[in-house]
Amino acid sequence: MLVIDGQQGEGGGQILRSSLALSMVTGTPFRIENIRAGRRKPGLMRQHLTAVRAAKKICDAYVIGDEIRSTELTFRPGTVKAGEYHFSIGTAGSTTLVLQAVLPALILANGKSTVTIEGGTHNPFAPPFDFLQKTFIPLLNRMGPTVEMTLDRHGFFPAGGGSFRVEIVPAEKLTGFDLMNRGNIVRKQATAIVANLPIDIAKRELEVIQKKLSFSTDCICYKQINDTPGPGNIVTIEIESESLCEVFTGFGEIGRAAEAVANRAIQMCQRYLKYGAPVGEYLADQILLPLAIAGRSQFHATFMSQHTQTHIDLVQKFLDCRISVDDRQRDGVTITIL
Ligand code: ATP
Repeated sequence: MLVIDGQQGEGGGQILRSSLALSMVTGTPFRIENIRAGRRKPGLMRQHLTAVRAAKKICDAYVIGDEIRSTELTFRPGTVKAGEYHFSIGTAGSTTLVLQAVLPALILANGKSTVTIEGGTHNPFAPPFDFLQKTFIPLLNRMGPTVEMTLDRHGFFPAGGGSFRVEIVPAEKLTGFDLMNRGNIVRKQATAIVANLPIDIAKRELEVIQKKLSFSTDCICYKQINDTPGPGNIVTIEIESESLCEVFTGFGEIGRAAEAVANRAIQMCQRYLKYGAPVGEYLADQILLPLAIAGRSQFHATFMSQHTQTHIDLVQKFLDCRISVDDRQRDGVTITIL
């Protein structure tokens, strides 16, 4: 049995989710110790526990340690079953992170699946729904499966109450690709959303974006929504180029000015535009896993985060692949999977 140390790298939830995903895809049992030892509240929180139980359900796994705050888990996967699944976190925990744990197995399963997940859909420190839908999923679909995501309801921290659906037509195997150049930028879009909050917040955010990124008025839009239980605010900047669409996000928070929320997304976007690399910091750690399953791939990323390094180390424990990093270039790093 593979033993994983959960405190390696940044010691967060990603090591657990990716271990679940890779265990199901490869049929490899594992035990993970020191779960989220690098975090203020270590062990399994609701979001991580939901991911474990979701994984257990889709492959009839034998599991020990799936309890709240547990710092050790043993997971022995059975056969992955396609089907209709519904998972509810019960808090504002990130739904998109739960999806990270089960999606790799379902895109390689024996039939079509539908997955509905309830909780937070736009959480700080997690991929917002829009990032998965516009950035991650189109690239995943390039590897063979057909995955479609639909947002049913927004869910913001701390109230949650959001939900999305994922329709999955699997592929027999994943095919890798090279993503070394961005190509020309073909579309730019900034969107500010407020939920149960004054619309002025969204307008102020967009004003900053227009000024600092020189976006014209037809590249911006705002929305006021009230289909969600709590207040919420998010601003996204989409940069679509010939080879992919990257999404940069600022999350509203109590006590954070609208201008500061916009500035967070602007800074990430400016950094991306400054470098020529197509793959942004967050996408790099996320796309690595399916590309490593596919094998023979290469991509150029703006930045090598600790998340990406941890992922590289973990993936090589489960898969028969070799991953090299070339960080000698001035405009980012090249990651090659052999
Ligand atoms: P923990 O609960 O242990 O603090 P976690 O379970 O929330 O951690 P991490 O291990 O920190 O998760 O992983 C967070 C994931 O969310 C990473 O894959 C990262 O790329 C992604 N992510 C964070 N912020 C964004 C963002 N703004 N856009 C896209 N993806 C993001």
